[in-house]
This record gives sequence, C-alpha cells and structure tokens, in this order.
Amino acid sequence: MTQHSDQRPTMSSRVIPVEPFDLVIFGGTGDLARRKILPGLFRRFCAGQMPPQARVIGAARTDMDTAGFRTMVAEAIKEFSGSYSFTQAKLDAFLARIEYLAIDARGEKGWAELAELMSDEGRVEAYYFSVSPALFGDLAERLQKWGMADASARIVVEKPFGRDLETARALNKTLATYFDESQIYRIDHYLGKETVQNLMAVRFGNMLFEPLWNAQYVDHIQITVAETVGVGGRGEYYDKSGAMRDMVQNHLMQLLCLIAMEPPARFDPDAVRDEKLKVIRALDPVLAHHIIRGQYQAEPMNEAEAPGYRTAVGDARSRTESFIALKTHISNWRWAGTPFYLRTGKRMEARSSEITVVFKETPHSIFSEDAGKHRNVLSIRLQPNEGITLGVTIKEPGPGGMRLIDVPLDMSFAEALEEGAESVDAYERLIMDVIRGNQTLFMRGDEVEAAWGWTDPIIEGWEARNDVPKPYESGSDGPTDSTELMRRDGREWRKVTA
Ligand code: NAP
Repeated sequence: MTQHSDQRPTMSSRVIPVEPFDLVIFGGTGDLARRKILPGLFRRFCAGQMPPQARVIGAARTDMDTAGFRTMVAEAIKEFSGSYSFTQAKLDAFLARIEYLAIDARGEKGWAELAELMSDEGRVEAYYFSVSPALFGDLAERLQKWGMADASARIVVEKPFGRDLETARALNKTLATYFDESQIYRIDHYLGKETVQNLMAVRFGNMLFEPLWNAQYVDHIQITVAETVGVGGRGEYYDKSGAMRDMVQNHLMQLLCLIAMEPPARFDPDAVRDEKLKVIRALDPVLAHHIIRGQYQAEPMNEAEAPGYRTAVGDARSRTESFIALKTHISNWRWAGTPFYLRTGKRMEARSSEITVVFKETPHSIFSEDAGKHRNVLSIRLQPNEGITLGVTIKEPGPGGMRLIDVPLDMSFAEALEEGAESVDAYERLIMDVIRGNQTLFMRGDEVEAAWGWTDPIIEGWEARNDVPKPYESGSDGPTDSTELMRRDGREWRKVTA
C-alpha cells in the first residue's frame, strides 16, 4: 500500500505528554512489572510522554527500600528492553521518579504511608493490580478504606478476569462495590497492539473495504494465534486454564469482535464496546464436532528440554488443551453464512498471530483456465513483523498468454514508519491510555461476562463428555483433525509462518 504523501510518518512527532500522574504498581516486584510495565514506562519516559511531575510507586510485600527497588528496576530495564538503546543518564532520570513501599494487600502494612504519598491533589491517580486476581478484591477494599478510591482514581486489572461466568460476575460485583465502571480498566494487551488499532483504521478509515466486509463478499475469516513455546514454568497454572480460557475467551474473541463489529457511530469507548458486545451476543453456540482440542507431544530426541504437555504440567492424565481450533458463526445480517475459524496453540511451528479475511471468488471468470483459483486475501499480522498484506490477482508478466498470479501488496509497519522510529509496545500504549482516561481499548465488564457466557457451555460440554484432547507433534500446526475441520468445508488454514 502506498502512502498519500512523500513524508513518512514518525512516532516522535506525535508524542503528547500526558497529565501529571501517580501510578502505583501493586506487584511491582513481579514478573509482569519487570518484563512489561516498568520497561514500557521507561520507553514512554524516553519518548517524552511522562511529564516531569509523574511518579511511579512500586508496591509488594517484600521488604525493600526505594534504593533497592530502583536497582531492581534498572536491572529489569536492561534485561527486558531488547534492542532499545538508551543512555545511563536517561535511566537515572527515570529511576529518580520511582519509589517503593512494602505493602500487604491482605494486611494493614504500608497502607497509611501509601495514602500519605497519594494525598497530592490535581494529579491522575492510577493503581495497577499486577497481582494474583485473588487479591483484586482486597486491594479495592483497602484503597477505599484508606481514602484512595475517590471518583478520579483508576484501577487497572490484569487477566485472567474470572475462570467462568460465575467468577467473572462475582469479581465485577466486588470491584463495582468500590469503583464505578468508568474507573475500571480491564487489560487485554492484544488490544494495545498497533495492528489491532490499524484494523479499525483500515476498516473505518477507508472506503475500499467496508462495502465488501460482509457475507456477500467474504468467504470466511481465520484468526490464528500460534506460539512456539510450551507451558514452561507456568504448567500448574496453565493446566487449570487451558487454551480456551487462556487465549480464546479473551484475546481471540477480542480480535473476532473488532473484525466483525458494525461501524461504531464514534470512536469513543462505549460506542466501540457496545458494538463488540453485540458481536459476542450474536455468536452461535459451537457444535461439538466443530471444535478440535489438542495437547502437544514431546520433541523427539529432546524430551528433557522439550517435554510433552502432560509431563510439563506434571499430570499424566491431564485433559487440558494446549491447542484449540474451532468454527463458529455470527448470526446477524452482516455475517450470516460466513464461517469464522479460530485457532491457537502452544509448541506450534512458528510464532505468529494473524487475522485473515478470505474474499469470495469473482462471480464469473473470463480467464477460463484460472477459474476459481484466485481470491483476494487480506491478512493482518499482529506478530511478528506487524503489518497488513492484501493479495491481489494480476497477469503473470511475459508473453505466455493470459495467465494469472496472486501478488501481495505489502505494508510492513516497520518499513512504513520512518527509519529509527521505535514501535510502541502494547503495554506502553495501554498504560498511557489509562492516564489519559481513555477506555476504548479496555474490556468492559459486560463484554467479559458475555464472552464467558459463550465459552462456558463449550467447556462444560467437554467436561460432561470427558473429552480427551488429541496429541499433536511439537513444531506442527496442531492435530490433523484441525486440518480436516477446514478441508471438510473445502478450505485450508493459512500456513503458520514467522
Ligand atoms: P508474579 O511474578 O507472581 O508477581 C506477583 C506480585 O504480587 C509480586 O510482586 C508479589 O510480590 C506481589 N504480591 C503477592 N502477594 C501479595 C500481597 N499479599 N500483597 C501485595 N503484593 C503481593 O506474577 P506476575 O506474573 O507478575 O502476574 C501478575 C498478574 O498479571 C497476574 O494477575 C497474572 O495473571 C497477570 N498476567 C501476567 C502475565 C505475565 O506475563 N507475567 C501476563 C498476563 C497477565 P511479594 O511476594 O513481594 O508480595
């Protein structure tokens, strides 16, 4: 895709500092804070988005002073910033904004000090719950008790948001006791990805696609989120959850909503989330034979380092799925008759997240030898190499007659943006949205409940049938039944490539 002007867009020219803020990270010493939240904040600081008065306060039970926490943060930034280059002076300036308080979410320790620290007026107050969901209620209750849950406060909650409809409802109810829905930011980091927002820009900022975006012109849509890693050290947690709860109920369904929703009247939080909710409510129940579950096997000759799923989770009889592929329909005027295929798995052949819109064939081919072979395919890559590709059909160059070939119109974001511009990580964007008070890219309570309302009967069906996932080879594209699911419909999955 070509750009309209010669000037290439830059990231830095668009950085607008946010309001002064205090961000408390409960779980500031944890894995997520060290890998994503703190390095992300540092990058926003380097980009000039954090105003000079901003403060970041790490909070966890571990006894540590601010100096100790700053050392930990510096190490985390060095370890998890990848190729991002920065100076020691920048790092020191960022560390000067950071403080630490030892706090117990379930006790009284540290709360009076935090309340004192947060007593400055006129600043955005945000509390990131980067702790186990079992502590969300305790944190909310204590924030209120200590006078920090006023109308201007915002809380950010991590996934998983419940493990079924009942627990999600209970969690929503608990949080609603202390905070209004407009103060609650439920994170799904997939929504913070550049390409996901570009999906909305492509759909609603161009005249080209929207008229074709329906069952009349779209043959089917595929969403694949493939990982090469196994469960790693998260085996015990993962085995209680599985691919349906861990990936489909949140990330894949969010992507499905964005690709299928009606154009919202405005790009504002409730207008967008109302439309997403309508998609979830219009999803058909999934038939048992339209779902394939799988468990990865050990890597041959490398069982010690790459054990099979059951060994990795320490349960030789585990029935939890590490792979899922399913077909569903959306019962509304726009999509009736167009199948949506969703697929996600661990230990697959490549790490790749992609949404593919496969258009129908032309109604009549004037090039008889090529009849039915060519279709436009719009592919939106979330990772790696975020970008959008549109497959178009052209004449094969040369004098060999009228033969057609498919070529990609490719827009890689890394190339489209000015050289040297840094892409913004999902967490960076989402944290800045919290400070700006923009909930568009966060899940609303009713959306989360509706998503569980769709997945619960599927999971209950497996439990009732004692369904056992099919084994699949590590490094493959899942169980062969998944290929069959498509082949039965005369279709095929797009190849999973890095
Ligand atoms: P983690 O590494 O186990 O860290 C948990 C944090 O909570 C630690 O800082 C811990 O510090 C603190 N903590 C535990 N009990 C506490 C208490 N009673 N009071 C105050 N602080 C307490 O977990 P994580 O991986 O960072 O995950 C945090 C949240 O993010 C979870 O909800 C998880 O599901 C979600 N999440 C994580 C990832 C990821 O990639 N890690 C991805 C998506 C979602 P102390 O022991 O010092 O108190």
